[in-house]
Amino acid sequence: MNKDMVKKIPEGVIWTLQQLQSAGYESYIVGGCVRDMFLDRNPNDWDVTTNAIPEQIISVFEKTDRRVVYENNFGTVGIINKGMEKDHSTYEIEITPYRTEGNYSDNRRPDNVSFSSDINEDLMRRDFTINTMAYDPINHVLIDNYNGETDLRNSVIRTVGDANERFSEDALRIMRAVRFAAQLGFMYETKTMEAIKNHASRLQHISAERIRDEFIKIIDAKFAMDGIVMLHTLGMLQYVVPELEEGINCEQGGIHSFDVWTHNLKSLEHGTNKEYPLYVKLAALFHDIGKPATRRKANGRGTKEWTFYGHEVVGARMARAIMKRLKFSNELIDKVYKLVRYHMFFSDPDAITLSAVRRMVKNVGKDMIWDLMDVRTCDRIGTGRPKEKPYRLRKYHAMIEEVMRDPISVGMLKINGDIMIGEMGLQPGRKMGWVLHALLEEVLDDPTLNTREYLEKRTLEMYEMSDEEVQKLGEAGKDKKDEEEFQAVKKLHRKHRVG
Ligand code: ATP
Ligand code: MG
Repeated sequence: MNKDMVKKIPEGVIWTLQQLQSAGYESYIVGGCVRDMFLDRNPNDWDVTTNAIPEQIISVFEKTDRRVVYENNFGTVGIINKGMEKDHSTYEIEITPYRTEGNYSDNRRPDNVSFSSDINEDLMRRDFTINTMAYDPINHVLIDNYNGETDLRNSVIRTVGDANERFSEDALRIMRAVRFAAQLGFMYETKTMEAIKNHASRLQHISAERIRDEFIKIIDAKFAMDGIVMLHTLGMLQYVVPELEEGINCEQGGIHSFDVWTHNLKSLEHGTNKEYPLYVKLAALFHDIGKPATRRKANGRGTKEWTFYGHEVVGARMARAIMKRLKFSNELIDKVYKLVRYHMFFSDPDAITLSAVRRMVKNVGKDMIWDLMDVRTCDRIGTGRPKEKPYRLRKYHAMIEEVMRDPISVGMLKINGDIMIGEMGLQPGRKMGWVLHALLEEVLDDPTLNTREYLEKRTLEMYEMSDEEVQKLGEAGKDKKDEEEFQAVKKLHRKHRVG
């Protein structure tokens, strides 16, 4: 551990260690943060371990001005650190007493936790050697009983003790192994790797939330694509996102040199390289997930060998089902759904019109239209074609810029229900709703029509029409209901089923 590494430890962490030591206890930073310091990565959090038990820890910090948050489950005590750093950040430091873990009966969590006065007992229960180092920066003592430093230098992931035993205790560890490999670019020691394969099917017994958290870390990792490939080769992906594996050997023909699986992966890889947000990377990975289910032999006409009609409709639903299963938040699910659903929009070469762009902005929302372009870029790069910003993408970009200020919702019209009722003396009701939507349709086609004068004139004309006529106009641009759209795709596939 050199001086530069030690300098990275925040003041508040040193202070915390110091308080415990002044009161006569041992204290170390431990686990992930020590590992990350060695690798010159920024630790996610700073964990402290000590031979003090929770009551003793609390009594030490109650005498200070720090706020103490007691966490009951593992005897962990949280300390809120405020005002100690140059950047004025406020953060929590978790202090956990040395502990041992009891029997494991259900693949998941220890049955009981007991405290220990020996730090080695605490390090022993940890998953991988690279996560077992403890460091005391005040006395410059590094405890490395399991050769974590050597494994770090050799980029090796190795369990502490017998791999099969350790994975039997908690099968989530095999997910964590892949996560560390993807984050750090490490490889598994042979026995650890064999044991991961042996335990793959036990992921079925791990809660969706715990799997999701590791899956997210894999997607956000530097080597995310390798992470997904490893999940597959180690036999784990079938318990996480089996839908992705349907793309293996699903050839696409045409401009595509890759099968659907590789294409999805390469798209994710580009998202990683560009440091896109999580939901864009998920959308990149899932964007063609509906292709295997919708692939049909093209019958004759044109040069296409295969067709994938409606794959974005089917794929968006699949992405949603996958993310629901993995207990992702509804907000994230909605975003990924939209991006997958509309990813085909920018594929259409020169036929695109401004009014079509306006309608797309209306569908995905102004806040996500650039994300959609990013997914589109991932898709393009994912086919293996080199140039990122061809003429076409620049053209789309310019068109989006152009329509961004145009009215794309009823609320942006220069007329509204109040005006219609209050000033024009019209009856409120369903017809008024249809009229407003019909007006929006016209304005989407031509934004210069968004004037009070024109819209009043058209409103009066529409009120002369029959209810049915106005309803038809108003609903013309309405997105079909999700289910309706899906049924239409299904029907189409039944009709054209070949072989
Ligand atoms: P990061 O915080 O960067 O995601 P980390 O290695 O710190 O990675 P945490 O989940 O924060 O991981 O856990 C902190 C430490 O606790 C780990 O470094 C490891 O020593 C230990 N640990 C965490 N989860 C397990 C587990 N399932 N089995 C055994 N030890 C674990
Ligand atoms: Mg951590």
